[in-house]
Amino acid sequence: MLSYHSKKTNVFAAGTLQRVSESRVDEQYIQSKLHDPATRFIPVWKNKNLVTAVDPIQSVYLSYDQATPLLTDSAPLIFLGILEGVTYFAFALPDDSPVATLFPAEQHFKDLRDIGVLLTQDEGSLYAYARALVHWHRTHQYCGRCGSKTLSIEGGHVLQCINPNCVLRHFPRTDAAIILLITYREHCLLVRQSIWPEGMYATVAGFLEPGESLENAVAREVMEETGLVLENIQYHSSQPWPFPASIMIGFTAQSTSMDYKLDQVEIEKAVWVTREELAEKLQNGTIKLPPPLSIASRLIDEWYKGGEVS
Ligand SMILES: [Zn+2]
Repeated sequence: MLSYHSKKTNVFAAGTLQRVSESRVDEQYIQSKLHDPATRFIPVWKNKNLVTAVDPIQSVYLSYDQATPLLTDSAPLIFLGILEGVTYFAFALPDDSPVATLFPAEQHFKDLRDIGVLLTQDEGSLYAYARALVHWHRTHQYCGRCGSKTLSIEGGHVLQCINPNCVLRHFPRTDAAIILLITYREHCLLVRQSIWPEGMYATVAGFLEPGESLENAVAREVMEETGLVLENIQYHSSQPWPFPASIMIGFTAQSTSMDYKLDQVEIEKAVWVTREELAEKLQNGTIKLPPPLSIASRLIDEWYKGGEVS
């Protein structure tokens, strides 16, 4: 049985932005917002977002006059919504844009993975939303059914095939991935992949496959990677993860034993730790944990603090 008990909002989860999705079909409304002097524009370049380099890091939004010269036919404007009375649009800059000459020296394009925790909840979620939609536009310029070009409509939230015999409508996609904290009595299981930095451990994660429920995917991933059988699988919380197009759906579960058998393909090592052992290994540097940005970090942190939901 799933139970929602989380109070804290994960980084990148939607803040107070109003998406006003019903207005996306109203071209007159979109155009009026486009030319509203208060409207702001979010550029995305090579999947990176624009921020100030000074401390504290802040998001940078462009005015209509600043954004217009940067727009290209292949990168339409995407209507995001309204935050505190200001309308926001996103757009892509071509990879070969001379960004160093286009923007002031104190502004830089950064990967959201590196700066997400430094932004406010609203800024982080707005940037994640912009990044995800721009990425979807870049990777869906052609129809997956007939190969014709697609056309951005409805404020950039639909890409429609221009072939009159097809006219398939493509919608933004989000790939579901499960991530979970496994415990056995006083122990928590941490795993590592060989491609991760030395000493880095995290929780088990994997993609949902077609035909699976989320609980199916949790049980399958854990069985495949560790051979462990789970019980009491509980939903924890979820996190938009636009790297490039996922949502991480967090769970907790108890293992019926400590006897794991690693697949040695995805998981290189695993270790059961008590809270005291984890503290010691963090102290002596033999274990490093994921950055505080991620839901993996939160799952481990909440377990470490005794299961309190922060
Ligand atoms: Zn088509």
